Amino acid sequence: MTLRTSFDGHTVWFVTGSQTLYGEETLRQVAEQSRQVAAGLAGLPVRVEWKPVLKDTDNIRRLALEANSDDSVIGVIAWMHTFSPAKMWIAGLDALRKPLLHLHTQANVELPWETIDFDFMNLNQAAHGDREFGYIQTRLGVARKTVVGHVSHPAVLSQVESWQRAAAGWAAARQLKLARFGDNMRQVAVTEGDKTEAELRFGVQVNTWGVNQLADAVSCATAAEIDTLVDEYEDRYDVAPELRRGGDRHQSLRDGAAIEAGLRSFLHSGGFGAFTTNFEDLGSLTQLPGLAVQRLMADGYGFGAEGDWKTAILVRVANVMGAGLPGGASLMEDYTYDLVPGDEKILGAHMLEVSPSLTTAKPRLEIHPLGIGGKADPVRLVFTADPGPALVVSLADMRDRFRLVANVVDNVAAPDLPKLPVGRAVWKPQPDFATSAACWLAAGGAHHTVMTTAVGIEVFRDFAEIAHTELLVIDEATTVRDFHSHLRWNQAYYRLAQGF
Ligand code: MN
Repeated sequence: MTLRTSFDGHTVWFVTGSQTLYGEETLRQVAEQSRQVAAGLAGLPVRVEWKPVLKDTDNIRRLALEANSDDSVIGVIAWMHTFSPAKMWIAGLDALRKPLLHLHTQANVELPWETIDFDFMNLNQAAHGDREFGYIQTRLGVARKTVVGHVSHPAVLSQVESWQRAAAGWAAARQLKLARFGDNMRQVAVTEGDKTEAELRFGVQVNTWGVNQLADAVSCATAAEIDTLVDEYEDRYDVAPELRRGGDRHQSLRDGAAIEAGLRSFLHSGGFGAFTTNFEDLGSLTQLPGLAVQRLMADGYGFGAEGDWKTAILVRVANVMGAGLPGGASLMEDYTYDLVPGDEKILGAHMLEVSPSLTTAKPRLEIHPLGIGGKADPVRLVFTADPGPALVVSLADMRDRFRLVANVVDNVAAPDLPKLPVGRAVWKPQPDFATSAACWLAAGGAHHTVMTTAVGIEVFRDFAEIAHTELLVIDEATTVRDFHSHLRWNQAYYRLAQGF
């Protein structure tokens, strides 16, 4: 199974609510105009499919059941062009298991003040039809995104697009199989978690394989496969002379290529979209997988180091949500600080495993010793993430629930770091370093995150809403005092919201 990191084959259904009492002529206009509204969404990344106007309880329920059972449908957009009495929607909304967007719009932009009559008023009454729909969604506790405005407005399209991306991330999580090679790093707390609960909440299957099963796959890599990869490395990266063909250490590059070929074949044959490794448990692998992991993340796979399967989920989901956009998603770790007053920065990296999708520059491919793990020197890509807006997000198990913590950050240019041979990013967190770190620590956010430079916080907000998962956001408006209050309210809210 080839890993798909695009929206090909995905569909969002566009449904319009009405009722039979309007008569055929009005309902014909409802159908025609709702087709035009749906057509206004045609430029979005996920295909929007118009569905016939819904007029009664049974058709609404059947549509929900059809959406549930069709894997290509990743979400439903609903609009009440006319008045659709909302008790008709109870059974359908109760049955619907796909992400929902309530589009509060209307067919026209301007009112035809000179000619408006009561026929026009009858046809164009989303202003109260959608209020009836909002009431029943809220009464039933239906998770959804509400977007307000005409589909010709760029802000409306952008909000719908964010939701489409979140819905695609959700669909990817629901079918994600994650392979852990070995267990978590010994004694580490935050990378642990309830894998059974994760399968219920996010749909992700998290299971473990002995690292020597991976080593077996690596040993099956053929010379031809390794040659092909080496050609690709020499083409795409600035390869250190010692690693090139004829160089002293070329065999290390070939060993790294064998790891990549073995990993790809293991993941491909098992249908996996994400994986973890642990430097404490490398079995008969010759090197800690660095280059291979970096390249697989850039191809859309999720990855977490030290057995961190929760971050691996986030990297996979962020890769899908950012499909087709510039930038990428990577495992990241807050490593060390530059505490110059007023210009504080965070230097993030990992031992090796940072995705080159964070840079548009040509990475260097180098080999250096790794003082941990007791294996041969690993090959790795070296680069600095491009300056620009970014987001770091962590997922932690808080015993009774999962918690997402996100910080909106700005990647900045870094000076040359000639003695630091790893992929890295340097960023300034919003709203400022001290507030960001104090809030992150108070929230119990993890030291591992996904860094995405492709999607912003709105997409993650929509994802959290779809996933019924707590999300704490640290952004330009955050204050420590309000954040602490928010944490306390959430403790109560999430316990109550789960029931007993
Ligand atoms: Mn780590």
